[in-house]
Amino acid sequence: MKKLLILSGKGGTGKTSTAASFIAFSKAKAIADCDVDAPNLHLAVAGSSEPQTSDFTGSQKASIDASLCTNCKICQNHCRFNAIETNGKNCFVNPVRCEGCGVCTFVCPQKAVTMEDDISGQQFLFTENSRIFSTAKLKIGRGNSGKLVTAVKKSLFEKSRDADIAVIDGSPGIGCPVIASINGADLILIVAEPSSSGFNDLKRLVQTAFSLQAAVCVCVNKWDINPKYTDLIQQFCMENNIPFAGTIPYDDTVSLAVNEQKNIAEFDCEAARALHKIYSNVMQILDKRHENYGID
Ligand code: SF4
Ligand code: SF4
Repeated sequence: MKKLLILSGKGGTGKTSTAASFIAFSKAKAIADCDVDAPNLHLAVAGSSEPQTSDFTGSQKASIDASLCTNCKICQNHCRFNAIETNGKNCFVNPVRCEGCGVCTFVCPQKAVTMEDDISGQQFLFTENSRIFSTAKLKIGRGNSGKLVTAVKKSLFEKSRDADIAVIDGSPGIGCPVIASINGADLILIVAEPSSSGFNDLKRLVQTAFSLQAAVCVCVNKWDINPKYTDLIQQFCMENNIPFAGTIPYDDTVSLAVNEQKNIAEFDCEAARALHKIYSNVMQILDKRHENYGID
């Protein structure tokens, strides 16, 4: 299975629209949305089937048994995250602040504190017409995004072993979920924005990908809103031996497609044609890597 990951240095660059169109062009039977903080690929590609849903337990949180607690506040004094509060009669844990370090369970003389599994998100697995779509949603304030991304990919690959290609929509930026999504990808397509900040975001993401020895190619969305930065991005790619997969022009049809929760690939428009060209280029790069490195 060839694994293509689509990333961007920041949100709003057209990453998910690009991923959705690649899914349509490739008719991929294995797809995933690894943007677990704000998943939205389902808006463009989900079918009508109900997903198989499961809780994701990424960590533990402390819990105080009020009937055993003497309000001595020893645990409060030892908690480095200020996660323990008191109501005057007993202490209790603020679950948003608790980092699950477990110190309070060691110091409590009454053995009133226990660690409990924390449900930090939900995983969703859609199966329709032999296509597997794996995604998840992390609860607000939870910090297990990397682990959840790994779980999303594990579910996908377990259920779609015979698929030729997996198209994975990653998170924007260079944080934990991005690093977790890069692991195991055969090729990363970075969707860049032609602006000063977009160029810097691209450079940071390329640096992150290279530090993980991942193969990268780049395309520029809305290239014509700032041709100067499009040129700079192309030059940067050339200087760093990064294949440049193409450009997408600004096209009002994209906003129309997003508003109607449709895939841009369904429209006969300039952006869709440009995306198809980029798709062909990316597939050539992926196939070449497959031939050269024997990716299964
Ligand atoms: S150390 Fe134990 S008994 Fe003391 S306040 Fe904390 S939970 Fe309550
Ligand atoms: S597990 Fe750690 S962070 Fe959570 S309440 Fe106990 S001491 Fe504080």
